[in-house]
Amino acid sequence: MKITDGIFLLDGAEFDSNVFCINNEILVDCGSGFYIKETLDQMAEYGLNPKKITTIIITHAHFDHCGAAKKWKKLTKAKILVHENDREALETGKGTMAEEFEVEYKEVKADGILKEGGTIGTGKYSFKVIHTPGHTPGGICLWDENNKILVSGDTLFLDGVGRTDLEGGNENELKKSIQKIKKLGDIDILLPGHGAPASKRNIYAKDAIKKALDSI
Ligand SMILES: [Zn+2]
Repeated sequence: MKITDGIFLLDGAEFDSNVFCINNEILVDCGSGFYIKETLDQMAEYGLNPKKITTIIITHAHFDHCGAAKKWKKLTKAKILVHENDREALETGKGTMAEEFEVEYKEVKADGILKEGGTIGTGKYSFKVIHTPGHTPGGICLWDENNKILVSGDTLFLDGVGRTDLEGGNENELKKSIQKIKKLGDIDILLPGHGAPASKRNIYAKDAIKKALDSI
């Protein structure tokens, strides 16, 4: 689904996370790896070339978001970026929930670390990294202030906030992270880790986001 200029949602199959492709350069999350063909099929449909991806941002190291990172690395040679607090999970599989779901996890090295306040830009987009622990210790969101776009991982969805009952979860931390997001002000486009995104055109989205932010 095209969200806005240069930003596409590649729907996750089954339990896979959403994958967002920005300017055919950045992937945000990459799914579990079990449905990579479905992701590639969607890219082909939208005229996106997987070989042009240079950066893969992992919003948090749960296997449904990062299990495919090793395969993507092979396919693209892209840099894989993750927050320091989720690095070990990404690199060892411990804490990715793969064991609990009894799926095989492919460990992969991080090429760089996402830091609070760091920026990642492509074309007209400039995303600031916001550390939002709570769902996992190294969860991050990406915020484009000019375009009011929040890529929220599993911290915030259109119908609520992320779970804190999984490994690495912490409700107090999540509350603090949601407070941080509230301070950003109006969000025009919400790109969550699962489920429906919110576009400017969806007149119900603003209320849904407000309700979700107030639910914790
Ligand atoms: Zn998760």
